Amino acid sequence: MDSMETGLVDGRGRRVSYLRLSVTDRCNLACRYCVRENPQFIPHQEILRFEEMQRLVFLAQQLGISKVRLTGGEPLVRKGCIDFVQRLLAVRPALDVRLTTNGSMLAPRLASLALAGFRRVNVSLDTLNAKKFRAITGRDLLGAVLESIHEALRLGVRVKINAVGLRGVNDDELESFLRVAAEHSLDVRFIELMPIGPCTTWTKEHLWPAADILERAKKLAELRPLDRRGPSSGPADVYEIAGGKGRFGVIAPLTDHFCGLCNRLRVTADGRLRTCLFSERTFDLKRALRHPKLGDRSVQRIMQGALKTKPMGSELMAARGPGGYCDSRMSAIGG
Ligand code: SAM
Repeated sequence: MDSMETGLVDGRGRRVSYLRLSVTDRCNLACRYCVRENPQFIPHQEILRFEEMQRLVFLAQQLGISKVRLTGGEPLVRKGCIDFVQRLLAVRPALDVRLTTNGSMLAPRLASLALAGFRRVNVSLDTLNAKKFRAITGRDLLGAVLESIHEALRLGVRVKINAVGLRGVNDDELESFLRVAAEHSLDVRFIELMPIGPCTTWTKEHLWPAADILERAKKLAELRPLDRRGPSSGPADVYEIAGGKGRFGVIAPLTDHFCGLCNRLRVTADGRLRTCLFSERTFDLKRALRHPKLGDRSVQRIMQGALKTKPMGSELMAARGPGGYCDSRMSAIGG
């Protein structure tokens, strides 16, 4: 059978249909658990040009990728990112193109995105308190993030707010986040802190297990189960808030992993394919993309070959043992 026909199926039979593409490893925020002090950024010439990223996305689409999430660093700090989104939407209307952003630069760009057919955005926001926002991110930009969320809702762009649950940092804000979800048509999801890169300098005390978050949330609001995580609903357990407009969810990559359902590939801004968030192994797509004699099929073959080795992240973490971590930069992988 031609390998094109098999599309993107990994060695364990998981079909991959979701690509997370990091367009830059630079960010205008420096969240303490995410960005290292004095980070070494990828040199400009190593970063894929948008034309190269577009080719990559289309080649991946031919193999069965139907959803692409642009991430970073902060995707919007890269000049031309909005044009790139617009181009993807215009040329491949069937592709589900999404963005994960810290929201601080989004508001003024939303109208043109919405006009181009952009429909869904994930905004990362760990606190609703301005002082704490500054302490976590190093910048005074909470107002700009909230403005982006309101603007997205006004324009009919679906919003998911992703907060990393941080014990001792934002565990006193669960009620406020639940109120936001109750008052607006959006999703608030709490995700566990993962032992990747700089967060490993944070003590284990910051990990707030999803089960504990949920237990607390259920005491604060009447939650009715909607979607148990699964192939259609993704990694979150999602709840309706009785009498509210939005939804609440938790994501437990660490304490209750969902590797069996994983349908993702990640590509870093310098064209390295990663088959698992918890694996340090990468596959060089850029070399093939830039090689004068290697064509589209070579790039696709690397993707398909890499996928055969896609591990179970939970097994990697178990093998690392207590205190083990993945020595990569989350700001380069894109979450
Ligand atoms: N700048 C964009 C943003 O803020 O969404 C995209 C990149 S950022 C790396 C993607 C997501 O990864 C953010 O929601 C961030 O909170 C999350 N993140 C970073 N380090 C993490 C860690 N160690 N554990 C869990 N989530 C983490």
